[in-house]
Amino acid sequence: MTLSCTEQQRTTCSVGGMYTALAIEKFLPIMHCGPGCYANVSCTLGTMNGGQSPETYNNSIVPSTNFCEDDVVFGGVDRLHALVGECIKYYDSDLYLIIDGCTAEIVGDDLEEVANAFQSEEKPIIYTSLPGFKGNSVWGHGEVLASIVDQYMKPAADIDPLQVNIFGIVPYFDPHWSATLDRLEELLIYLGLKPNIIYGRNRGKKNIDKIPAAGFNLVLAPWTDLALAEKLKEKFGTPYLHFDNQPIGPTETAKFIRRICKYANLGELKAETYIKKEEDRYYYYLRRSYPWIYSCKNFPREFVVNASAAAAVSVSRFAVNDLGMIPKRIYVTDGIPEEYQPGVEAMLRDVEYDGDFEVIFTEDGGLFEDSLKYEDLTIRKLCVFGSSWELVPTTKEKLPFVPVTTPLGDFMLGSKTYFGYEGGLTFMADLYSDAANKVIDVQI
Ligand code: SF4
Repeated sequence: MTLSCTEQQRTTCSVGGMYTALAIEKFLPIMHCGPGCYANVSCTLGTMNGGQSPETYNNSIVPSTNFCEDDVVFGGVDRLHALVGECIKYYDSDLYLIIDGCTAEIVGDDLEEVANAFQSEEKPIIYTSLPGFKGNSVWGHGEVLASIVDQYMKPAADIDPLQVNIFGIVPYFDPHWSATLDRLEELLIYLGLKPNIIYGRNRGKKNIDKIPAAGFNLVLAPWTDLALAEKLKEKFGTPYLHFDNQPIGPTETAKFIRRICKYANLGELKAETYIKKEEDRYYYYLRRSYPWIYSCKNFPREFVVNASAAAAVSVSRFAVNDLGMIPKRIYVTDGIPEEYQPGVEAMLRDVEYDGDFEVIFTEDGGLFEDSLKYEDLTIRKLCVFGSSWELVPTTKEKLPFVPVTTPLGDFMLGSKTYFGYEGGLTFMADLYSDAANKVIDVQI
């Protein structure tokens, strides 16, 4: 009998959805699961992921019933009830979210009953079931947002046609989420829109309350939050624009700007002025880098991606369309539901390259490292775009590497993002700097 298991996980179990709540200011997750459950997910999504500790609530102060053996036998509802009461007393939160894991779900503890017992206008309490046997953290993220819509949101009195809610970016799972949203917000304001983002600094509940009043929703991802956009369309009649990636560099960023301006009837002048100004700046820096780039004689032209669909589509478009690189293999590791896979594959193949390359949907992040055993790396090396898991093989084999996906245990991200024109320059600098350190001394 052959046993197989997944290695080098890039998601967590669905309890990782708690990080979507932690990305919203003063939104407190109250855990009803084993202590190890949420400690585990914090290693992949929190502090050990680019040095991102959550605010307002650091993962170490997230309250939990710490579900144990007695609760399995007698049920844990009484202890959950007591914990929720204490949380309301001692945590100054705008919203509370009760989350259970596998064991509480199996014994059938009723979260709704507990939430209803404490419900009030000032301190809304919602609940969501995130047993790990149902899905991974990306699935958990979707469940948390669905719970907010289903249990908390009410229709708006007036619609603001210029307000756009931003979805698709999964906080923490996308390690650059925070800075990307800041840059995106600046861009949309410049174009004349009123972006409404719920994650990050100075946003929170007041922005959740504004969601039903939006003129439209923007989903900036290959597949995440598409179900949410459909739900909001059904519940509030809000239409949505789907752009399949977070643009990196001039080609995709210009495409994105033109697309959103056309969709929102913003006219062409502002968009074209912005594109011209930013392209001039981008190519100025690129021209200045050329002599150095050309000196990277052994720079590999082929690349492999081992990352989430969001990172894979964004990075592939930039690497092929702007840097002139060739995709060799793309591992998509976020456990995409089957119905989305053909669409995501088409997005990955929608690049300016006619040759063939592999697209592999798998949660087994270790397949890439295994594949290196069969690769001739003497001369024709590869660039690799992945996570901290790729650090050891790319260092050993001297493969140029850029970290683009969770987990990023050996990097501190600060306000880094690869979004937009500036992000393209940053990505290029990271790639060529790493290449210079690894490839220049290859002996042919
Ligand atoms: S799979 Fe279940 S038991 Fe395991 S960490 Fe996740 S919630 Fe806890």
